[in-house]
Amino acid sequence: MKSDLRKLNIEYVLNSIDKSTDLQLILNSICSWLESNITDALVTIMLYSEAEQTLTLVNGEHHFSSKYCRSISPLKVKDKNGSCGTAAFSRKTIISRNLILDPNWKNYLEFVREENIISCWSVPIISAKGILYGTFGTYYREEKTPRSEHFEFINQAVSLIALAIERENEYKQRLAINEKYSSFYTHHPDLIIEIDLNGYILNSNITCNKILGFSEKQILGKHFWTFIPTKYHKLINLAFKDALKGIAKHYKIPAYHSSGKLIWLDLTNLPIIQNQKVTGVFAIARDISTRLKNEESLRLLKRGVDASPNGIFITDISDNLEIVFVNPSFTSITGYSPEEILGKSYNFLSGPETDLIQVEKIKTGIRELKETTVKLKKYRRNGTWFWCRLMFGPVFDQNNICTHFLGNIEDITEDEKNRSYIKYQHTRDSITGLPNQRTFDKFLEKEFEQQNKSPASLALFYIDLDDFRSMNESLGYLIGDKIIRDIGSRLQDLLKKDGLLSRYIEDKFILLVKNSKNHNQLVTLAESILDLISQNFQIENKALHLTASIGIAVRNSNTRYASELLYESMNALKEAKKQGRNTWYLYKRDPNKFFPEKDYAFLRLELMTALKEKQFRLFYQPLVDPRTGKVHSVEALIRWHHPQKGFIFPDTFIPLAERTGQIVAIGQWVLEQACFDIAHINEKNNTTISVSVNISPLQFGRSNFLSCLESVLIKSKLPANLLKIEITEGVIINGADRAIEILKSVRELGVKVSIDDFGTGYSSLSYLRRLPINQIKLDREFIDNLTNNSQDSSIVQSIIYLAHQLNLEVVAEGVETLEQAKILHYQNCDLLQGYFYTKPVELNNVIFKYYSLEEC
Ligand code: C2E
Ligand code: CA
Ligand code: CA
Repeated sequence: MKSDLRKLNIEYVLNSIDKSTDLQLILNSICSWLESNITDALVTIMLYSEAEQTLTLVNGEHHFSSKYCRSISPLKVKDKNGSCGTAAFSRKTIISRNLILDPNWKNYLEFVREENIISCWSVPIISAKGILYGTFGTYYREEKTPRSEHFEFINQAVSLIALAIERENEYKQRLAINEKYSSFYTHHPDLIIEIDLNGYILNSNITCNKILGFSEKQILGKHFWTFIPTKYHKLINLAFKDALKGIAKHYKIPAYHSSGKLIWLDLTNLPIIQNQKVTGVFAIARDISTRLKNEESLRLLKRGVDASPNGIFITDISDNLEIVFVNPSFTSITGYSPEEILGKSYNFLSGPETDLIQVEKIKTGIRELKETTVKLKKYRRNGTWFWCRLMFGPVFDQNNICTHFLGNIEDITEDEKNRSYIKYQHTRDSITGLPNQRTFDKFLEKEFEQQNKSPASLALFYIDLDDFRSMNESLGYLIGDKIIRDIGSRLQDLLKKDGLLSRYIEDKFILLVKNSKNHNQLVTLAESILDLISQNFQIENKALHLTASIGIAVRNSNTRYASELLYESMNALKEAKKQGRNTWYLYKRDPNKFFPEKDYAFLRLELMTALKEKQFRLFYQPLVDPRTGKVHSVEALIRWHHPQKGFIFPDTFIPLAERTGQIVAIGQWVLEQACFDIAHINEKNNTTISVSVNISPLQFGRSNFLSCLESVLIKSKLPANLLKIEITEGVIINGADRAIEILKSVRELGVKVSIDDFGTGYSSLSYLRRLPINQIKLDREFIDNLTNNSQDSSIVQSIIYLAHQLNLEVVAEGVETLEQAKILHYQNCDLLQGYFYTKPVELNNVIFKYYSLEEC
């Protein structure tokens, strides 16, 4: 029975050890088991601390007084320190039969007596690996010598204790490891999921919830498929199967986020191996959605950069800003290979003609970390240059620190070529390649501006080909253009670099001469130009002969504006023409001129005031019929009655009013005033005097000219046949068909038409045949020369004759002498007008008397 109990006890102990029951309980059982096997044994267990080198009593305190327990626990492990201290020290069993006599107990004699103990056997508890765990002691209150069976029990107890302690240690160690791994697992920054062999999720960590957005509850127990789009099931199944075979797999896969969106995971499947068997699978993953998105945009960016037709380069921020990247276009534009470029400084394409100001701009941009765009000449590998638009600017990181510079080069050579071609087209005349009117005007303005600071001599030559228009018409425009081109190059050759030559308009060239020393020099130049132009032109094997007239104006201290000088040269040209052409005329300043010091803007203002304040007057000059001596009609001539300057003659302001367009309003006023005046005087005197009104080309060209004419007649009640308009040949020739149409309509109204200044322009008499006109007015020039130039006299005679053939009335203007009047009368001229009869006067002063030539 007793042995059964003993057996039972030991089974219980072994069971407890196996189940890792509390160590203290196991030790208690072992102690009681031994006490039941050795009579009167008081069993104690002391555990060893290696660090302290002591033993601590953990079992059997109840056998002794607490005073004794305190004195032996802890107990230093050393020789001759009680049975246990000595046993632990020597790692041997110490049998003390009589404690009083035992030298090991020398220090504890007092206790031996008080506790009434006689013998003590102490056995060190040592593990199989030789580790000292403590001592196992049995005390006796009588002297006792162990027998072999005692040793058997004690050794069995000691090995049981060693086993229990070993298990306990192991358990504690496992626990510590578990804790460590569990925290590693729980707090790992990657998603970790533990999956069982069937694919169901057993565990998930905190990151898993964060990444997927699901709670642990929503994840646990689910199959991993739940979180993967169907399309990817095959992939994940294969990887899972591999993991079950012990093979780790690493791949990218999308997964559902709780929001329904897909996220991309960088996933590793690891087999969980326990006891050499796969017991499950770990899925470890990282959210790479952002990275993939970045990679995608980087890929697209790279594609864009590679495909860009612009050269793109990136430099580091070293002192030289060395190039670290170039795209294919950069290499094709520059001709350098990437290997030749990388490591070079950002400005390695500069060359001898690279604009330093632009380079400085770029440098400032670099210093101030600002983006700069410049236009530069850059050089290719083969030494040729190209126009480059360069954008260069800093690249900043998230912390706003400049990490690189980015450059963009664009080959804009073609653009530049086009731009300069367009500029050339804008500034040059297409036939001669000479500067055109706009360019010349600008240049002249600039010269004036500069010269205002330091006046130097400046002369304008206004060169007009004589009678070029009729040549153009008879030979055709192609030949006309060729002649113009030839003249352009002849003049250019003559002038070389002295001055600026421009084809100003049509057959007119302007030459600006700077720093001419004296008057003679200008005359010599004018003569050589005339000489040059008068040399024959060889066109299509035919020799052509041309002449030109030149008006010269020289700047003096009073000439403040470019337009003034231009105007003077034009007037000088007129004079040269009047002098019979193929000559030059140097403009002489009229000291009586009214606006020498004024600019046109001022004059324009004055003209406006004049209109508004009714400062204009009409003077009339009679046209006398030499046969009857009767005043046949009058010509209305405008005068400006300036409040300060008195009467101003039309030569001074009409050309300017024509330029500013004010002539239209002025002309309209003249027309109305003349019609009213004449209607009135006819009514008063019961006469049928007619009136001629000068019409400026601008006025004539206005679309409402006819309706104005009509309404004036209606308003003034002047019969249409008593009104005559005077226009110059230029009006008809410039306007051609349209002008003829207007003239026809004028005639249909009943109004008559006269060609003024006939003979100065281009039209030939045969041309007149086509025109719906009534009268021609021979220019004063012919009349001037009538008496001293027999050629002019015969010209006049034949004009009169031919005009009469065409049913045209002929008027001679500027008749100053009786002699002239007589000749003209003799030559059958219909009407005479001039100072010989009277100067233009106010209407009231026109004497409607008989101007008989016989009486004179
Ligand atoms: P025009 O139409 O040829 O007018 C004749 C000019 O010759 C007038 O000058 C007249 O005073 C002047 N004259 C007349 N007889 C003689 C003479 O025997 N000897 C000299 N040396 N001159 C003589 P005026 O009035 O100074 O006019 C100059 C020009 O102004 C006119 O030339 C005409 O072209 C223009 N003009 C005058 N009034 C008007 C007008 O109302 N409208 C327009 N559009 N132009 C006008
Ligand atoms: Ca006239
Ligand atoms: Ca005239």
